[in-house]
Amino acid sequence: MRAKFDIRSWIENPKELLVIAGPCSVESETQFADTVMQIKDIQSVNLIRAGIWKPRTRPNGFEGIGEEGLKWMRHLADTTGMPFMTEVATPQHVEQALNHKIDALWIGARTTANPFSIQELADSLRGSDIPVFVKNPIAADLKLWIGAFERLSSSGLKYLVAIHRGFQDVNSNPYRNNPRWELPIELHRLYPNIPIITDISHICGCREILQETAQKALNLATNGLMIESHCEPEKALTDAEQQITPHDLKALLENIVIHKTNSSKADALLQELRSQIDSIDDELLHLLAKRSDISAKIGIIKKENNLTVLQLDRWNTILSQHLNKGKTLGLKEDLVKSIFEIIHKDSIDRQL
Ligand code: PEP
Ligand code: MN
Repeated sequence: MRAKFDIRSWIENPKELLVIAGPCSVESETQFADTVMQIKDIQSVNLIRAGIWKPRTRPNGFEGIGEEGLKWMRHLADTTGMPFMTEVATPQHVEQALNHKIDALWIGARTTANPFSIQELADSLRGSDIPVFVKNPIAADLKLWIGAFERLSSSGLKYLVAIHRGFQDVNSNPYRNNPRWELPIELHRLYPNIPIITDISHICGCREILQETAQKALNLATNGLMIESHCEPEKALTDAEQQITPHDLKALLENIVIHKTNSSKADALLQELRSQIDSIDDELLHLLAKRSDISAKIGIIKKENNLTVLQLDRWNTILSQHLNKGKTLGLKEDLVKSIFEIIHKDSIDRQL
């Protein structure tokens, strides 16, 4: 039996990579036990996930095994020493999960999208110190995600973690859900004390790109991974295309490169290069301020001479000149174009 992993201590100090794995859904006692018995032997897996209540887009599909599954979960937790987590979407789910002493909970993407549901969950969790993992809302709305953390912390919940599972988008090719990595990065910038783990299974939606997506998440300094694993993925009742066998899960975890957060040799080199970047940034800001002042002077001349603020020919000329120059300097066209669009917009704003 394994020594129990302490989720609360990890949340307070998320230094090591947290690995959560388990089936999308608990389907039967045998499927669940078979899967768990294989996953528990993978040392790098810290926590087992399994959905007991499943949010399905359309009715009449498999909607989860319900409370009975919590008994199997409790039994497997007691016999393996592994901690378990499940998804809650209503106060009844919370009550049942707490009654069965499930180790941690997660809130699904559809629930995070609804502030009424989040408030009900926060109210039903008041007084508990259970760790709660909050998936990003389906839509790319950072404020909704933040709002869920605010509601839960107002209820006194201290152990909170974010799960990045990608966002529904018109075109998310090749992913099932567009990762839009900039959103979890911004969440991390605003709330550095909330660890963020990456649910690569729901981002990818297929097995083929899981490995590279796991590595990408690690390169972007994720605090952990959530990966769906099933003893017979093709027969899974939910998310069959994206689940992997415990055997493949082990291989995936062995193939990832876990980065160090610091190294003294690299630190010295980085410090030198970063101070160069800092002084270049400072120069850029001074130049931008100078350019903006000149642009304001041009605005006065245009006004005095009754000229339009927008001079399309001039804008076309400078844009194509800069794009050409950028090309010779090895800069990406998109980058140069976006920068000058913003600068030009500022000039227009100052002259209006
Ligand atoms: C799940 O984890 O199985 C799930 C339903 O996820 P999401 O809420 O991210 O769609
Ligand atoms: Mn799933």
